[in-house]
Amino acid sequence: MRHSLFFFARVAVLILAAVWLAERPGTVSIDWQGWRVDTSVGILALAALLLAFLSIGLFRLWRLLRDGTGSFGRFRQAGRQRRGYQALSQGLLAVAAGDSVRAEKLAKKAKTLLDDPALPLLLSVQAAQLKGDQAAAAQGLEAMLALPETEFAGLRGLLTLANRAGNVHSAAELAQRALALQPRATWPALALLELEAREGHWTDATAALETALKTKAISKEDGRRHRAALLTERARLTAASHRQEEAGQLAQQAHDLDPALVPAAALLARLKAQSGDARGARRVLEQAWRSCPHPDLAAIWGEVDGPAPDSLTRVKRYEGLVALDECAVEGHLALATVSISARLWGQARNHLNIARERSPTVRVFRLFADLAQVERGDPLEVRDWQLRQAAADPDPAWICSGCGTVHPSWSASCRRCGGFNTIHWVQPVFAGGGSHPVSGTAAGGPALIGSALALPAPGSGDSRTAFR
Ligand SMILES: [Zn+2]
Repeated sequence: MRHSLFFFARVAVLILAAVWLAERPGTVSIDWQGWRVDTSVGILALAALLLAFLSIGLFRLWRLLRDGTGSFGRFRQAGRQRRGYQALSQGLLAVAAGDSVRAEKLAKKAKTLLDDPALPLLLSVQAAQLKGDQAAAAQGLEAMLALPETEFAGLRGLLTLANRAGNVHSAAELAQRALALQPRATWPALALLELEAREGHWTDATAALETALKTKAISKEDGRRHRAALLTERARLTAASHRQEEAGQLAQQAHDLDPALVPAAALLARLKAQSGDARGARRVLEQAWRSCPHPDLAAIWGEVDGPAPDSLTRVKRYEGLVALDECAVEGHLALATVSISARLWGQARNHLNIARERSPTVRVFRLFADLAQVERGDPLEVRDWQLRQAAADPDPAWICSGCGTVHPSWSASCRRCGGFNTIHWVQPVFAGGGSHPVSGTAAGGPALIGSALALPAPGSGDSRTAFR
């Protein structure tokens, strides 16, 4: 409507101008550079109008040609980008399908088509890793370090490779670099904690733990348990250096943080007993016993007041341990053991029967066989108990919740998978009667750091990785 009005207004102006010129006839003469033109005013006005329309037309034609060339260029560029991202997505699908050759080919194609080299680089690294070409993967990861957007991911990939090669020192350096690059990220602090612990650098591991707590990579409750584990390792090291007082202080801190941590309680009780504080040692053992009755605690219990003068005194001491918690199978087994030594056959059998009712594991039947041997010496009865022992459930053990390995003793770091604070005192759960405990669920405890780094120790065959 507005356009129509404007059009009619313009026509009206033109008509008025034509009428105005028609009412005022006259001639115009132009003398320029030897040329002379004689014409009417109306013709001159018409010529000026035509010249203006021609100029506008030429200008519009020039602009159309110019824009047309740019549009064509943009169209071509968009096509390249589309084909590049298509190659990239197909490459990722090839990686997911395990087709390393196709993934590698598509990574090269994406690299030639896309302006941004980051994603094709990442795809080429993944293709190389899938192919098992560690040298090419490492080369690609090194190239990723040069790009700001891929540096962090490159560090993680290189850390994984260094860890897989058993180069814990380099892996720790890469974790530190990643932590400096992104201090709020969770995995570098967790990886650093695990790596420092694996090296036995307990003080550095403690610093990494504090960083992990700040980044909220670890909950406060887990942080408390991990602090206790690190303090226990430091206390052990200090005690081995014959600095008993300092070791006692560290063990006390660990015990205060986690009273159920058996190695801390056992070390603290032993150090207290050695320093003549039998009452303090007993108090520590009692507290730990109520949370986790463990054979190591039972062993120290009998030594707190010094060597027993006779076997009956030992029996009396262990009766006190059983009285602490009647439900604890370990107490009954310890009392049955000293009762056999004291030739108290009836008492030994009673406590073995209680243990057998609650937890019929290998040790129970072994002690029954020992009792049968020393009491009556009947080979058939001994053989019978031994057969039951062979078919019995396994005894509790120190088992890594990360890899399922059974360890002879506790340690803050699993020597097989490198998991930090993953070793727990639990009963093994065997899958289909196999000889190895079920990984992870067997121990009941969480694979805490394993989820961040989760890398196999050299030669372990464990395939859990964080960057593959
Ligand atoms: Zn492990």
